[in-house]
Amino acid sequence: MRVIVLGAGVVGVATAYYLWRDGHRVTVVERQPGPGLETSYGNAGGLCPSFAGPWAAPGMVGKVLKMALQPNSPVRFSLWPDLERLRWVRQWAGNCNVDSFGVNKARMQRVAHYSLACLRKLAEEADLDGFDYHCNGVLQIFRTPQELELGRIAARTLQELGIPWKMLDPADASAVEPALAASSEPWIGALHLPSDASGDSHKFCTSLSAYLQARGVVFRYDTSVRALQHCGGDITGVDIGVGERLEADAYVVALGSQAPSLLRPLGLRLPVYPLKGYSITVPIVDDALAPHVAIMDEHHKIMVSRLGDRIRVAGMAELVGHDLQLQDDRRALLMRLTRELLPNGLDFARTEFWAGLRPMTPDGPPVLGPTRIGRLFLNGGHGSNGWTQACGTSRIVADMVSGRQPEIDTEGLTAGRFGMGYP
Ligand SMILES: Cc1cc2nc3c(=O)[nH]c(=O)nc-3n(C[C@H](O)[C@H](O)[C@H](O)COP(=O)(O)OP(=O)(O)OC[C@H]3O[C@@H](n4cnc5c(N)ncnc54)[C@H](O)[C@@H]3O)c2cc1C
Repeated sequence: MRVIVLGAGVVGVATAYYLWRDGHRVTVVERQPGPGLETSYGNAGGLCPSFAGPWAAPGMVGKVLKMALQPNSPVRFSLWPDLERLRWVRQWAGNCNVDSFGVNKARMQRVAHYSLACLRKLAEEADLDGFDYHCNGVLQIFRTPQELELGRIAARTLQELGIPWKMLDPADASAVEPALAASSEPWIGALHLPSDASGDSHKFCTSLSAYLQARGVVFRYDTSVRALQHCGGDITGVDIGVGERLEADAYVVALGSQAPSLLRPLGLRLPVYPLKGYSITVPIVDDALAPHVAIMDEHHKIMVSRLGDRIRVAGMAELVGHDLQLQDDRRALLMRLTRELLPNGLDFARTEFWAGLRPMTPDGPPVLGPTRIGRLFLNGGHGSNGWTQACGTSRIVADMVSGRQPEIDTEGLTAGRFGMGYP
């Protein structure tokens, strides 16, 4: 079959891989001059299935409102009235309860663990090693007794799922990651997740797309999708402007936060809203003093990953539409928190600053598979866990395009759960 993949973020490139592997003729259409240049560029780099879970959690509505009122809060939202945002927030708030959280967390865990296994297999099959992959585990550090207690509750769920973990005191945690011993702000414990990993999703996109290009997959860069054309409930082509249109036997939408605007004219209301976050990337100058293990600072909600000879620190959650402006106070905050946590071995003078938009569904899991428009498939809504989930969801969507049963249960992962006429 001829298949067009729309978008060359980590999700689009991984989708192209699995479709190519199934023997399809694949074309990827991307508006940027290369792959992985939007949200997949500067994310935290965490490949962390162990704490994949929805943002919609019990008590989150009050927590977010309270946090947003504090100075230097990781959370912010625009007060500008925006119908899409209001609609999304209403659906999100409706999922902030114990029952929905449990269901959605289990769905995300199912796909995230499958995905890390898919990524490892893909890297082996394609002999991909240039993406700063580290499998040294993650330390989730806690600064208050309440955070520690929530960590213990999360650990009980991990136990039920058979995922390895260990609760450590600061001395034992500093033995796992000696760089933490220099931290200037006290912390009281850590959850060690030895099976999680990290890696650079932009480098992954670059290496994998080069591998695919060499094997006949066509990447149309600098090409913006203007519209999806349809007739009689079937998709007929992709309008890419200047009188050109592309045609295929199947189409996969992997457009991150841009997917809803291109699907809306087809009558498909995809409840995906951008959640802005920021990252800094800091070169390592002394390997012995820099961290080797990924660190999640639960108190400040920042994630630190080792990416080759750099560290990446990311965090913040802003509901401000598609605004990608780099805010100086966010840079200053990330720099200060990083300096307090890891004062040694880093060259802060050469820090790179970045912002990106997480494509969030209101309940948490991604949205995969067929739509009620014939031959049109979705692979989107990966939210804060898109790098972790990309290979698994792409394998699932490629299976669906090829008419094969996916290897894992897709209950709760398709658009049908939004009750909008999807199959
Ligand atoms: C601060 C931050 C930290 C994060 N940390 C992590 C983490 O540690 N672990 C994790 O698993 N995930 C993390 N994420 C989430 C992860 O980065 C995303 O879920 C993932 O990158 C989404 O990938 P995507 O391919 O769906 O979207 P994108 O990477 O945005 O790709 C969509 C592509 O579609 C293209 N496109 C859009 N519109 C058009 C058009 N009209 N025509 C042609 N092309 C178009 C875009 O240019 C883009 O390349 C983080 C995100 C942020 C913002």
